[in-house]
Amino acid sequence: MTGARHDAAPEAQPVAPALLTPVLVKQREDQVGPKGRTHYILSSDGLFLHRSHPFFTSCTPVREWPAELAGCTTSLQPRFPPLTRKQYERIVGFFSKVADQHGTEAAVLLVWDKQEQRVLLHVPRQTALLGGLGVRYELPVDLPPHQLVYGDVHCHVDAPAYASNVDVHDEEHSTGLHLVVGRIRSEPPELHVEVVVDGVRFLIDPAEVVAGYSHRREDVPDEWMACMRFEHARERPAVAVTYAPVSQPPALLPPPAPAPRTPNGGPRWHG
Ligand SMILES: [Zn+2]
Repeated sequence: MTGARHDAAPEAQPVAPALLTPVLVKQREDQVGPKGRTHYILSSDGLFLHRSHPFFTSCTPVREWPAELAGCTTSLQPRFPPLTRKQYERIVGFFSKVADQHGTEAAVLLVWDKQEQRVLLHVPRQTALLGGLGVRYELPVDLPPHQLVYGDVHCHVDAPAYASNVDVHDEEHSTGLHLVVGRIRSEPPELHVEVVVDGVRFLIDPAEVVAGYSHRREDVPDEWMACMRFEHARERPAVAVTYAPVSQPPALLPPPAPAPRTPNGGPRWHG
């Protein structure tokens, strides 16, 4: 029997033909769009407009995307597991004790245990600045695979709770939940919560991620206090990234492929 096969799968069609001006999704260097027809090219360098004019052929970056496309806005619907009231009160108790004894910041990591379906608190070994604001720590690389670091909490001591310039810089590639406790000597202290996803920051209501608060707890584990190291501000290295972990901890989000950078890992600074 001769003739065309009708049972073959249709060839992948990278052009969106429904648009008046088609879009070529360029996945190979030698890929070309419909001959003689003006079309867009979606590439790793952005969206371009390709024109075939009798006097020239051009390819130029577009300033306005196709009007036929529907709109899309930056948004976030958080579904983070909330800290229990007891957990948050213990964190505040820890920050309060460190502030009273040393006048420094401190930090706690939030870990989601996928097997037990609950939040765990992890206090990393950390170095806080004496006489200044700042705390440095390494993300744990020895957590079991079912435990995922999904956020952090740090304290601004007597300063207000907000995302400082150091925080914003440090957290740019740190997808997850970031809580800042401020004015630690007030009861309750201030709490500021932001989420970072793919470099975009979202301010969210603390009630979304903390189940409640009554008072700071005095029963701070000794092992938490033992994680604290201190250095004077003048001893702070000019370059923060001086000791990267040998492997990466589990990432909250896989980066888009190919990964331009890792969303987690490396020392963290908070200011
Ligand atoms: Zn901070």
